[in-house]
Amino acid sequence: MNSVPLTGKVALVTGASRGIGRACALALADAGATVAVGYGASPQAADEVVGLIRSQGGRAAPLGADLADMAAAGALVERTVAELGGLDIVVNNAGITRDNLAVRISDAEWDLVLAVDLSAAFRICRAALRPMLRQRGGRIINISSVAGVTGNPGQANYSAAKAGLIGLTKALCREVGSRGITVNAVAPGFISTDLTAALGGETLDAAAAAVPLRRLGTAEEVAAAVRFLALAEASYITGHVLHVDGGLAA
Ligand code: NAP
Repeated sequence: MNSVPLTGKVALVTGASRGIGRACALALADAGATVAVGYGASPQAADEVVGLIRSQGGRAAPLGADLADMAAAGALVERTVAELGGLDIVVNNAGITRDNLAVRISDAEWDLVLAVDLSAAFRICRAALRPMLRQRGGRIINISSVAGVTGNPGQANYSAAKAGLIGLTKALCREVGSRGITVNAVAPGFISTDLTAALGGETLDAAAAAVPLRRLGTAEEVAAAVRFLALAEASYITGHVLHVDGGLAA
């Protein structure tokens, strides 16, 4: 197999400054892709990811945008094409939580989570499909969550957004399959990142105990699934939700 199978491809990864997105950016770059390293509030972390990719002989550029700002979300695609010369792979990874019991979720907490986790992904897909339809090919990979598959108490906003990403994935797969574009979702379970660190040790221990594999996953394990879905080997997989959760949703 070609050791740099994505040579000549351009990938946009949102939320690539930290956690799962960072691991995805590094994995796609390792496979030869040029990577737009999307970030929101962490420009230094994004610069560090870009530096790491360049130090390994790859091509990357940092692209900042607050994905709560809908105009900025769509513009991210145009900036990727302008700065990196095309767009072949999109990983909609940026995400936030504002956890609370449903009766206590404010309108602002609902709207913000839906905006960043779902609406921004839709706008990025819509903008990315223009060049992908023209070139009759492309890969869209939406990072959903086990919460979007099974629901999670205390996460009505997040679960709704992540379930929405799965619906978006399946609808788009049917719309654009005839043009050689695949659209898939990856649904991670409990993965060790800043997002889950905020839950605290005891909660994480209980979470790990509920996982058939009895541990949290790593960002690299999610990135390996994303990398696979971007490769030619995955050319007949579309509309799929790939669980990377240690069996949590089995
Ligand atoms: P993380 O460590 O908290 O990183 C979140 C990323 O999203 C950061 O790069 C952050 O960039 C970016 N981001 C957040 N708000 C943004 C905004 N308004 N505009 C632009 N970028 C923004 O999270 P993670 O754990 O890696 O999660 C990545 C994805 O996987 C999310 O969609 C999450 O829902 C999903 N997921 C995670 C887990 C898990 O257990 N960790 C499980 C299931 C699904 P800046 O720091 O630059 O703002």
